[in-house]
Amino acid sequence: MRILAYHMVEPRFDVSVTRVTPKQFGRQIETALQLGYRFRTLAQALTHPYKDEKTIVLTFDDGYASVYQHAFPILRACTIPATIFIIVDYIGKLDTWDVNFGNICFPHLSWREIEALAAAGWEIGSHGLTHRDLTRLNREEQYEELYRSKANLEQTLTLTIDSISYPFGRVNPSISHLCREIGYRRGVVMGRRCRDVDVDFCLGRQGIYLFDGIRLFRQKIVAKNIKMLNFMQRCIDYCSMGTVIVKQGPWSKHENCA
Ligand SMILES: [Zn+2]
Repeated sequence: MRILAYHMVEPRFDVSVTRVTPKQFGRQIETALQLGYRFRTLAQALTHPYKDEKTIVLTFDDGYASVYQHAFPILRACTIPATIFIIVDYIGKLDTWDVNFGNICFPHLSWREIEALAAAGWEIGSHGLTHRDLTRLNREEQYEELYRSKANLEQTLTLTIDSISYPFGRVNPSISHLCREIGYRRGVVMGRRCRDVDVDFCLGRQGIYLFDGIRLFRQKIVAKNIKMLNFMQRCIDYCSMGTVIVKQGPWSKHENCA
């Protein structure tokens, strides 16, 4: 089983590489289907005997509206379900938590759009309340991020929320224990970086980015050149971590979105 991690599926220009274009995304799905892969949500893949190498789990972090606009129509046409992780305090808002180079902001999904994805068989998971690095918060703040994001999604959508994607993929044993205590059943990271965390709370993913041509995408799904891919993943994680710390630091000013 391969778990892929996407962010935006966006035709609009952005300096960040953590997006793919709708055209690129469509070609990737087509390629995977041609190679005989099948798609499951995270919950389906882990609770049914689909753990074989021909199963792909598509995950989307941050809950961008572009996923609804551009990825959902492609996936719906092939009845492919995916899993999306929502930053709950930003539902229906712009992504001012992120570094908005050139004051370009991107909208997050609305409740109505999240409901439509759930109705189409998508799994909805939590990505916290405010996209803060959980390892830098005190226990009370960690609880707030993990508990309230799950409870809000459950109450509004009348669903059970079992999966968490840790912001920046950052987790440690005490956070994973807290997740379990609160009622989560699994957690995803980027690459495979976590020490002493139970396997279900450290499910590794392969990020898919703007520079992924079809050849690199194929390598990522067949898990070829894994050392090189993991190294690339670490570089990308460091970059995205650094920029958001600048944004959330005390010296940051909140720009207006264009
Ligand atoms: Zn994120």
